Amino acid sequence: MMAQYLRIKAEHPDKFVFYRMGDFYELFYDDAAKAARLLDITLTTRGQSAGEPIRMCGVPYHAVEQYLARLVKLGESVALCEQFGDPATSKGPVERRVVRVVTPGTLSDAALLDDKQENRILALTLEKGVLGMAWLSLASGDFALMDSTAEKLHSELERLRPAEVLVPDGVQLALIDAISIPVRRLAAWQFDRASAERNLGRHFNVHDLAGYGVTAQTLALGPAGALFEYVRATQGGTVPQLAGLRVESHTQYIELDAATRRNLELTETIRGEASPTLFSLLDRCATGMGSRLLRHWLHHPLRQHGAILERQSAIGALIEGGAYVDIHRVLNDVADIERISARIALRSARPRDLASLRDSLGALTALPPALPQTEFFAGLAHALQPDPALHQLLTAAVLPEPSVVLREGGVIADGYHAELDELRQIQKGGGEFLTQLEIAERARTGIPNLRVEYNRVAGFFIEISNSYVGQVPPEYRRRQTMKNCERYITPELKIFEDKALSAQDRALALEKQLYEALLESLQQYLGALRLAAHAVATADTLACLASRAVEQNYVAPRFVDEMCVRIEAGRHPVVEAQIDDFIPNGVDFSATRKLLLITGPNMGGKSTYMRQVALIVLMAHVGAWVPATEAIIGRVDRIFTRIGASDDLAGGRSTFMVEMTETANILNNASEHSLVLMDEVGRGTSTFDGLALAWAIARALIEKNRAYTLFATHYFELTRLAQDYPQVANVHLDAVEHKDKIVFLHAVQEGPASQSYGVAVASLAGVPRDVVRQARRKLVELEQGSISNGLQADLFAAPIVAEPETVAHAAVDALAEVDPDQLTPRQALEVLYTLKGLL
Ligand code: ADP
Repeated sequence: MMAQYLRIKAEHPDKFVFYRMGDFYELFYDDAAKAARLLDITLTTRGQSAGEPIRMCGVPYHAVEQYLARLVKLGESVALCEQFGDPATSKGPVERRVVRVVTPGTLSDAALLDDKQENRILALTLEKGVLGMAWLSLASGDFALMDSTAEKLHSELERLRPAEVLVPDGVQLALIDAISIPVRRLAAWQFDRASAERNLGRHFNVHDLAGYGVTAQTLALGPAGALFEYVRATQGGTVPQLAGLRVESHTQYIELDAATRRNLELTETIRGEASPTLFSLLDRCATGMGSRLLRHWLHHPLRQHGAILERQSAIGALIEGGAYVDIHRVLNDVADIERISARIALRSARPRDLASLRDSLGALTALPPALPQTEFFAGLAHALQPDPALHQLLTAAVLPEPSVVLREGGVIADGYHAELDELRQIQKGGGEFLTQLEIAERARTGIPNLRVEYNRVAGFFIEISNSYVGQVPPEYRRRQTMKNCERYITPELKIFEDKALSAQDRALALEKQLYEALLESLQQYLGALRLAAHAVATADTLACLASRAVEQNYVAPRFVDEMCVRIEAGRHPVVEAQIDDFIPNGVDFSATRKLLLITGPNMGGKSTYMRQVALIVLMAHVGAWVPATEAIIGRVDRIFTRIGASDDLAGGRSTFMVEMTETANILNNASEHSLVLMDEVGRGTSTFDGLALAWAIARALIEKNRAYTLFATHYFELTRLAQDYPQVANVHLDAVEHKDKIVFLHAVQEGPASQSYGVAVASLAGVPRDVVRQARRKLVELEQGSISNGLQADLFAAPIVAEPETVAHAAVDALAEVDPDQLTPRQALEVLYTLKGLL
């Protein structure tokens, strides 16, 4: 047996092998030691191998799911090795085979999956700066690929959030080694493009993949092929149900870089918590399918106004008729059709899965009448009603409340299969038959105490006490002699015995067979089920966005072709839900007003304001309504943020390095249609360094990128950019000091801020009184000092920033006339003498 184990283990060196032995899965050697530690189960030893006791530990088979869940959460993979054949009849150890490999990215069991989150597996490769990526969700059947670039890797990982990543051996990706996602290295040949094209072509039954928009040049083809084979291998060779092959392109969605996804706290807070986030605020979906689609939408805001408006007007229609309430009422009774379908495809659906599918399909018939009468919803309604034969089949085949596991029977409905009914009848009718037999035999033989009995050892028998033995009819055969009685069997009873004893076994075997056949005949409906699941998810998500729009008082944004982002009385959706009096603020960007310099005290609301603008723009492109009284938005291609300081210790970058890397990304990629949020850039270094950088960065954003930019800064000098560039405007947030207290007004106003209130904020934060008092004194000193030596770099000095334009002097006028680029060296020297003369 250990030889068999070691052979199987050799095929799965990097996974835990769960080796089935009777009612347990056992683990041996190093697997056992590691699993005992990770799962907190007892490590024992048994037997010996090479003079050493064999370490082992085990988990009971009926509780295996919970152990799998824990290992997979830790990023581990498990090969489940089952027994085949009958231990009673086989010579030597029973045959065992790995039937399934459970890896973080290829889960399908309900118990192991988070129902609000898509579980994806991503394969990628890198060649000459091109990043080929393919990803797949086993549960939804979504299979997509895309060629991207190496720089985008981080943001792609944030976008797709894979549970597992496959990379070819030898491909160097520093980032991949630093992330916390489990990474599996596969042999490079598994990423071969030619075999990928062949295998996928065969699977999708097409001559070539051009119809999917994939060519032999698509680098992502290799990862797609590797991924497909990997997933198939984990499922014991069963091919998952795939929704085709989708090629994604960067132009479809508004691009969000990795930092932006994190900073905007779309689905996770900066600290990695699930709430409060935009998703936790908006998600009131009735089904996991809806929640997962919403999560996807938030990470994939659309660029095409047409597609956005389709969702937006659907939400409008739901609000108008109030249909969203009914939709959610119906969907509350709908199970996760998508994941059940995936398990049907993998032949791993449980009896209760089929019962919930049946009940859900029944419940869904109430949905189409609840939908608004528009073309869009007519399409959904159509998909929501798969072939009625499917519902009929499930109703006919599965008991109303089947048992949890097939092994115990009690799954297939009565009336579905004549033989099964008969076998069940025999089991049930047994008692009745025996009583009848006893009455009849007593009457026939005249023996009053004749009894028909059953026990495990002797089976069925007729018992007659010794005093009546003489009256026993000739066809009775003696079965057993007891002290006071004899036990007999008759041909009639013998036939019954054979039937009854085997009826149970046969019923179980038959149920198993019927169940497998049922799963098989359900395969033809998978396509329709996938469409239905998608329609449910869409209706659910739209109804959810409609209900939130009503409850939170949102409006439908308008899209225009001209260059503008105009928001009236916007609110931060998440912050607004957490505090009582949120002060709304607008924003007004146009072709001639593109950079807003935001100044104001700490805690004044600068970050909130900037994020709110980004969130409103993002929500608008998701198709949702937005927290504002009006929003008019032109074309937007990307959203960038450079907010807050976070060390990327895993990546080995300091705070300032992170800041500059993110800034470089923005300066290199932002276009005039991009929205850029810059919070306190330059703060991570010395004052002059920082100011100089912030100034140069702002200028680049104005002159070169020309992006819609919100630029919050402490450097008051920057507010002067508004004088140099008409596209720049100053806005500020204010506070008032009142008897040593500071009150933030949170209202965005035109013009630069006048004070920073840093000391007041420190006092508010509980910095000891002495320290605050000393700071105030020092502040006065510094301000006076800087006035005297003419040096100032910070907001504190607002009042003393000199305005050089007001200096009137002939030399200044002359200098203003000079264009140094047009001067020869000799002319330059002449100008210098002239100027000196004027002075
Ligand atoms: P800053 O970035 O200027 O330091 P924040 O944006 O972090 O300030 O805001 C500080 C706090 O002020 C927030 O946590 C929030 O509670 C509150 N706040 C911000 N904006 C508003 C607003 N518009 N209305 C009401 N409260 C606000």
